[in-house]
Amino acid sequence: MSKTNLARAAQDDIYSSLDHAIESTVKLNAERNDLEGRFPRDNFQALAAAGWTGVLNEPRFGGLGLGHGDFAEAAYRIGQHDASMGLIYVMHVGAAQTINLFGNDDQKERWLKAKGRTLLGTYSTSERASGGHWWYNFSEASRDGENYVVNAEKSFTTSSGQADFYLVQTRSPGAKDQTDISFFIVDGKAAGIEAGPWDALGVRGNHSGPIRYTDVKVPRRDRLGAEGQGKEIIYDGVSPVYLIGLGAVWEGVARGALNAAVAHTSRFVHKDKNKSLSDYQAIRQELGAAKVLVETLRPWRKELAARLDELWRAGKPQSEILIPLTEFKVHAAEVANKVAAAALTVTGGYGYRRGPIERSFRDARAAIAMGPSNVIARDWIGKSLVGLPLELFYEGGE
Ligand SMILES: Cc1cc2nc3c(=O)[nH]c(=O)nc-3n(C[C@H](O)[C@H](O)[C@H](O)COP(=O)(O)OP(=O)(O)OC[C@H]3O[C@@H](n4cnc5c(N)ncnc54)[C@H](O)[C@@H]3O)c2cc1C
Repeated sequence: MSKTNLARAAQDDIYSSLDHAIESTVKLNAERNDLEGRFPRDNFQALAAAGWTGVLNEPRFGGLGLGHGDFAEAAYRIGQHDASMGLIYVMHVGAAQTINLFGNDDQKERWLKAKGRTLLGTYSTSERASGGHWWYNFSEASRDGENYVVNAEKSFTTSSGQADFYLVQTRSPGAKDQTDISFFIVDGKAAGIEAGPWDALGVRGNHSGPIRYTDVKVPRRDRLGAEGQGKEIIYDGVSPVYLIGLGAVWEGVARGALNAAVAHTSRFVHKDKNKSLSDYQAIRQELGAAKVLVETLRPWRKELAARLDELWRAGKPQSEILIPLTEFKVHAAEVANKVAAAALTVTGGYGYRRGPIERSFRDARAAIAMGPSNVIARDWIGKSLVGLPLELFYEGGE
């Protein structure tokens, strides 16, 4: 076999193990996790066994060493069956990638490689006091000799109470101003972490509830990057990988809802007319319009992912494409909501019953609220259109 064919065969293998993990756990558990608010640890382990939780990590730290296109493809495939798991996956890969970009080898060894045990990570940034302005922290770390103590009340953290480590964003000790932010890798087992309940309209399986850190001790070796480097980490570490992943999950939700709607409308027959729902032109119009919306996302995702890879390889800041990534997030969120609503329309009472279609409708609502909310995001985009700077941190800024 030629080198190219070998590489293609290896690529096929790695994707078939992803699909197997999705089919055998994510798809199978989705309804139950939603009904019971059950956290899908088993899904995560299956994805880890297939290597996909380390998709962007270097092979020397146990990763697959792939790019953002593969990460986003995995998030999209997972999202087709379960938005909850999609978000857990994105927060995990995002946290790991932030360590890849700003961490040292010791941190990669302990949190990413972790003696071959895959640890579940997540971001813990949003605070009750500043709501959707998740870059703006009121919490502040303090010093404990050369180590740190973290006190923070975070309003939402996906995988809260479940994660093995949290990437916590907070003001640096004695912060000079609002931009003086630091990141810490906080051990999920550390004393002083208390996760609140998660009971929500949708994404019910991903424990995105509040979490409180009370006098949590963090050793110096778990500070990510330098003190005060947090602003750069927000722009160039957290945001780009999170936004492409988030958009991909919502694209998956849209595709999943469309597939379910096509399956039902093709199958269900009105015996009085001996016609399936899809025999009605009005129903096909709805499906056709939804399909056009879904198709807008794939090429856009691939193009943005390729640009992220190029910037990463060139060692350039990925925030160069923050606005296009934000536009993709906004559109993917809106497409997921529109397509889920169309899927409900064409499937009538059947779609309204508990099941994948009504779940997609509930899950998709989270897309609008998740930071940057579509409202805030559209203002960012508008600012860039009219030539205003996107400066999140100045007094009165947003
Ligand atoms: C399912 C889910 C998972 C999440 N996971 C995480 C996570 O893993 N980690 C994490 O750190 N956070 C997470 N979040 C938090 C999320 O990113 C947002 O910070 C949070 O949803 C904001 O909600 P809020 O009620 O505090 O917003 P608020 O700020 O109270 O917003 C209320 C309304 O006001 C609008 N608004 C807010 N600011 C402005 C403004 N400046 N101009 C105009 N309108 C404005 C908003 O768009 C919204 O419509 C999650 C949220 C959800 C719903």
